[in-house]
Order: sequence, then C-alpha cells, then structure tokens
Amino acid sequence: MYSYRTVSVIPELPEAIDRLKELARNLWFSWHPEAELLFSRMDAVLWEEVNHNPVKFLLYVDADKLQKAAGDPEYLEIYSRVMSDFDAYMQGETWYQRTCPEQTNQLVAYFSAEFGVHESNPVYSGGLGLLAGDHCKSASDLGLPFVGVGILYKQGYFCQRINREGRQEAHYFFMDFNEMTISPATRPGGGDVIITVRMPGRDVFVKVWQLQVGRTVIYFLDTDLTQNSREDRLLTAKLYGGDQDTRICQEIILGIGGVKALRQLGIFPTAWHMNEGHAALIILERLREYVQSGLSLPTAREVVRSNTIFTTHTPVPAGHDVFSAEMIDRYLGHLYEEIKTDRDGFLALGWDQGRQGFNMTKLALNHAAFTNGVSKLHGEVTKKMFSHLYPSIPLEEIPIHSVTNGIHTETWVAPEMRALFEKYIGKDWTHNISDPCRWKRVYDIPDQELWETHQILKGRMIKFVQNNIYRRMDRNFQPLELIRECAGYLSKNVLTIGFARRFATYKRAYLLLKDKERLARLVNNPERPVQIIYAGKAHPADRPGQDLIKMINDVSSEEPFRGKIVFVEDYDINVSRHLLQGVDVWLNTPRRPLEASGTSGQKAAVNGVINCSILDGWWPEAYNGENGFAIGSDRDYENEEVQDREDASSLFDLLEQVIVPYYYRRVEGIPREWVRRMKDCLATIPWKFSTERMVKEYTQRFYLKAALRGEAFSADRCRLAGQIQEFKKFLTENWHQISFRSIRVHQPPVLKENTEIFIQAEVFLGPVQPRDIVVEVVYGKVSDHGLDKVTLMPMRFNQAVADNVYQYETNIVLIRGTSGYTLRIRPNDEYFAHHFELPLVKWADNF
Ligand SMILES: *Cc1c(COP(=O)(O)O)cnc(C)c1O
Repeated sequence: MYSYRTVSVIPELPEAIDRLKELARNLWFSWHPEAELLFSRMDAVLWEEVNHNPVKFLLYVDADKLQKAAGDPEYLEIYSRVMSDFDAYMQGETWYQRTCPEQTNQLVAYFSAEFGVHESNPVYSGGLGLLAGDHCKSASDLGLPFVGVGILYKQGYFCQRINREGRQEAHYFFMDFNEMTISPATRPGGGDVIITVRMPGRDVFVKVWQLQVGRTVIYFLDTDLTQNSREDRLLTAKLYGGDQDTRICQEIILGIGGVKALRQLGIFPTAWHMNEGHAALIILERLREYVQSGLSLPTAREVVRSNTIFTTHTPVPAGHDVFSAEMIDRYLGHLYEEIKTDRDGFLALGWDQGRQGFNMTKLALNHAAFTNGVSKLHGEVTKKMFSHLYPSIPLEEIPIHSVTNGIHTETWVAPEMRALFEKYIGKDWTHNISDPCRWKRVYDIPDQELWETHQILKGRMIKFVQNNIYRRMDRNFQPLELIRECAGYLSKNVLTIGFARRFATYKRAYLLLKDKERLARLVNNPERPVQIIYAGKAHPADRPGQDLIKMINDVSSEEPFRGKIVFVEDYDINVSRHLLQGVDVWLNTPRRPLEASGTSGQKAAVNGVINCSILDGWWPEAYNGENGFAIGSDRDYENEEVQDREDASSLFDLLEQVIVPYYYRRVEGIPREWVRRMKDCLATIPWKFSTERMVKEYTQRFYLKAALRGEAFSADRCRLAGQIQEFKKFLTENWHQISFRSIRVHQPPVLKENTEIFIQAEVFLGPVQPRDIVVEVVYGKVSDHGLDKVTLMPMRFNQAVADNVYQYETNIVLIRGTSGYTLRIRPNDEYFAHHFELPLVKWADNF
C-alpha cells in the first residue's frame, strides 16, 4: 500500500451561525431536540443521510442552505436560544459542586470496551455500551469530574443487511474519523497523544481521540496508524470481532494503553471504574506503575484495590473472558519481571481454578474495593456465582453490591413527550429526574392529550418501519407488487408489540413463535388484531442467533403474518429510539435469570409504552401490578424446555385475556384504562430507572469512598497500604489459631418480647491482638439455608482472663417469631472496604 496524507477541508460558516461548529463537536446536541433542529431544519434529507452526524452534515450541506439559515430570523432565534442553553449547561452550577464542594479535585476514570452514545458513533453492540454512554451523559449533567476510556473501532460493530433469503449479512464500513464528532486528543503542551503498548515482539502505537459529551470527555484508542504494521492497524478494527488473540490485544490496548494514555494527557484519576471484565488490565498497568516506583507487589495491590470499582454484567461464568496460561506468557510475560513476581505469582492475580485459565473477572474481583451487579436480582445471582470465594460467609454478607441500571432520560424521551412533561411536571423537570414526587403530576395530563401524543409517535414509528422495509425490498430486487404492498404494512389502530434487542438466544425472540397457530389467531383477530415488530442483530459468530432472525423473517413473509409481523433491519440507537417511542407494548422475554438488567424497557417506559416482561433483570424492582405486565412468576426452572413452554403459554394467556381486551376497551375513542396504566408507568418508572439516580448512587456509595481510600492508602509513600498488607498477611497466617474457649448465655426460660439475652464469650487469639478482630453476635430469621436478614451486634471487650484469652460480652433483644443467633470472630475491618475483604471468619462451634 502506498502512503498518503489525509486532509479535511472545513466549510466556512456564516458568522451569524458560526458556533454550529462547536455544537457539532459536542454530543450535548443529541439530547436537546432544539439543537438537533438547527441541523435538520436546514436540510432534513441530508440530516437523515448522514445518520444525524452534525460534523459530516456541515461538511456536505449546501452553502446556500447555510446562507439562508443565517438570514432567517426564526432560525436565528432558535440558534441563539440553543447556544445560550448550551452555555448555561456547560458553565452552570452542578449537583456535584453543591453536594461535594470539598472534593473538586477528584476524578473518576471509567473504562469500557464499548460506548453507545449516539448513532453517529457506532462503537457499541448493545446494552453494555448503551449503559456506558448514558453513564457519561449523566456524569456530565451532574457535573461529576469524570472521563471515559474506550476503543475507537474503525469498522464499528457491523451493519446488518437482511438478504432475499431473510438471512442476516454482516457488512463492515470504514469510518472516516475526520468526518466524525471526535477530534484528536492533545497533550497538555500541545500535540497528538500517541502512546505505545507492548505486544509480542513489538510495540504497537496507539493514537488517542476524544469525544465531548456535554462536560464529559471520552477518550478513544486507535491503532490505525501508519507507524503500525498492517495487522496491528486492524487490531482496533472491529468490536468483538476476531479470535482470542484479537480479544486479548484489544484488552491490552484498553487496559494498559488506556492508563498510559491518561498519563500522557496529564490525568490522574482518584477512582478507577471497570465496566465489565474487558477493562480489567488497567490493574496490571497500575501495579506496574507502583512497583516501578519502588513498592512491593503486595503493597501495590493494596493501593490499587483501595480505589478500584468493578461492575460485572454477566450472570454466567462461561461469559467471562478466560485466557490460557500460554497466552498470558506470550502477551504479558514481560510484566512478570516488571511487577517483580514470577509466572505463578502473576497467574495467581486472576487464576480461575475451575476453567484453568487467567480470568478477567477474577482479576477484577481480586483488585476491586467495590464490586457490583446491575440489578438487585443480578446482585444475588452474582453473589451465588462467587460464593466459593467466600467459604462459610453467609450469602447476604458476600461483598457484592448491586446498583440497578438506568437510562439517560433526556436521550430516550420523545420530543413530544418531553413537551408534555414540561407542561405538566414543570419546565425544569430535567433538573431532578430522580425525585418521585414531581412525577405524580403525570396524572394531571388529560387522557386525550397523552393518547394523542402517543398516536403521533406511533404514526412516526410506522412510517419509519415502512421505509426500512421498503429500502430492504428495493435493494433485494423484490417483486414490485410486494414492494408497493409494504406502504400498507402495520396500522396505527392496531395494538403494536415491539421486541428489539441483541439476538442472543437467551433473550428468546422465538417465544411467540413456539405456537404459530395461536399466534396467527392473535394477529388476525378481526375485531382486536395485534401486530409485532422485531429488530436486532445477532453476533456474526452466533449461528443460532442468526437462525432466529431467519426464522422471524420467514414467518413475516408467510401469508397469515405478512404485514403484521415485521422485522426491521440494522438495529441501532436510531432504530431503537423510534421503536420504543412508538409501540404500545414493549416485550421482553429473557430466560430468567440471565438478563442482568436490561434497559430498553426503561426507555420505553419514559415514553408511556407499557412493559410486558419476564420478571428478570430490572423488572422485578419496577413492576407493582399496575404499571405494566409480568409474564409468568419469579420461580426458577431446572429444565429450559419446560421454562420455554410455560413462559410461552403465560405470555399468550396474558396477551389474549388481559392485554388485548384492555387495549381495545374504548370510551369515546380513548382506551381509558390503558391510558391510566400509561400514567402509572410514567409515575413509577422513570424517576427510579434513570442514570441520574444511578450515577448519584455510584458516586455516593463508591466513587467518593474510593477516592478517600486511595488518598489515605497512597499518602506518605503508601505507608498505610504497606501496613494493611502486613496485617492481612499476619492474620491469614495465624487465623487457624483463633477459637472460642467458652460461651455462657443467660436466657430466661420463656422469652417475651423485649427481654434481653446476656451473652459472654472467652476467645483464644494466639498472637492476634483484640484490636485486630471483632467478636460479634449474629442473629436473624431462620431459613432453609441458614440465617436471613441478619443483624450484627459487636461484643464489648471485657478483660484478659488468661494468656491470649479474652472475655467479651453483650446483650441482645430478639424480635417476635423464630430467630436464630450465633457468635463469630472476624478481622477488624477499620481500613477494609467491607467486612470480608479477607474472607476469614471463625464461627462458634456446636452452638
Ligand atoms: C437500550 C439498547 C439496548 C439494550 O437493550 P436491552 O433490551 O436492555 O438488552 C441495546 N441496543 C440498543 C441500540 C439500545 O438502545
């Protein structure tokens, strides 16, 4: 290949609208409909053609259209309003400044393999990326000092084309970074940021780009540089493409390269957040930094752990990245010496005994002060999954938290719905989205107004879907009659169900197709018909997922279903937004409990679209019997076939007996009860399931604590980290000596409410000192797996009664009903992030 220089010729903007350039390079525009209007008003067709990419739009828009806008008073009025909103947003006082005025020097760095911020930046595949994008937007809204770090995939995920046979084809297009909303990041002194990462036998150069999302910056890493070999230039070509080798290379670039990039940018985070195990290699680079500065590896591990946060999203162990020891030798072997350890010591940082490999989730867990799942249910599932790491510790005390996912509300709400919120909730409804009281005002929206708004959105969605199908048929040279027919597909007056998400098999897009006869009756009911819209991509290596797409496309071309069941191709943020703003029911059928959270239903809910979902992920936390529908119950199944059969039949029952009749019951043309349910949904879901609430939760529960811990641990040349590491070593080596010598209980023969039980215990500690441990009473409800809802009552130190034997005592009061209680000794956790940072505990024997 010959080499060439790339240049971009930037258009000259009329002075009156010169700041459009600035607006185009900040994704803030994407959640402000008026800002988008500044582009779409000028040339609506081009705006669609460039997939809402304003940088590209300004490159290609006709000069006279720019001139015309610059001379149009109405346009200029919008322009000046938008620009002053933008300035107010960028400079205004924020939640973070008000809440944490003393912590302005903190900085959270958030690492993720994908970011779904906007359709113009297609470097995401699904929920994980969307969550990361929405996290950044809310961090910006809240004024949290925050940067994101990700990878800039030259070919993105992939474009989905459905061919004549109804099969998915994956197409990859090169993105021209010069025509995107990103720009090269610059070093504090000026100049591009280019770092190197070590790969077997060579260094790979990585360039850093930046994307401005409101106040937040996301840094993206890119190896497509002429300094690199052809193979290395392709390392960041595809998201989740390639084999295990590509995978580990991308994770090295993200983790190790990401930390190096921040350093060159002069950025020193005080809290480090890994979004899923793909980002776990940041740990190795941080360990290397500390060890090279003179710390021992064990001490370095304590400092790194002190301010690291890990969010896991994968409820099945097989979903976690595991690399063989040989791969670790090949790719990371140079680090053994650099972090002053040997092969065994290195592998132990993340070794997975069961799968005999180096597990990124283990690496992350072993080095995070705070680990969380993404819904309450998923938190529980994760605790069970890792309970083997915490032998003899009650499940509920396993230090895995949960922070339920949310959405960036302003991104997903339709402009028309937003106008209703402004009118009835208040102009400033976006200022405190997580306040439930204000959302009660949605009951003030007149039924008719809400319904008409919904119908407008539905009409727009149907047009969008028809267009999508039309384009596909036209491209596939379908017969003309068929192409013409699609203008009549779908009707605004028919109950419409939407199902759009990644076509991973556990999401069970096939559930309704389990009984095609019943489905045909449902769809073709003459009085009360139903139509269904599907969309979604299957990973190019996922055959079963692709077969499912084919199956749905086949069904959609069969006579009883044609025009009533449709498949929309190339699911992305734009398709997603149209569908979930315009359908009546948002269907979600994951195989419980495999949906860690799910967020698309939350996006639907903020548009008054009713969720009909399996009680999995976030839905059990939201569903209250009134604000949507639940398929099946919250029981667990052993057998997948039985589960499918029962869930399919519950879903059909629900549709036939409840949802359809409800929808078609009209009073003066309006489905009053349905509209009531829409309001119940608006009143109860959006305030709770927003990234505003979520990011506040991460900040208050983890980020601030992590930053304080990091500061304390690293002060004075990491003195505290060294002490803690010594302490852990000492306790681990001597724990076996600890035992209960005697326990005395004074308990009246008949326990009445509010009577006290007096407990005294003598414990032998060997060389361990009383200040190193806590003796406590643990009591709670008796259940089939031990004690539930436990309360901890620390025991007072009384006196030393013999050499290394100490007496403790306390009183407890039990509540009514059957309780159990017992005693235990655990490490004193003054500087631990949680009680069981060392999974050591000594329970009273035979108690
Ligand atoms: C919200 C969203 C997702 C996540 O959807 P789930 O149903 O929660 O899995 C995936 N892809 C896109 C484009 C989305 O907008």
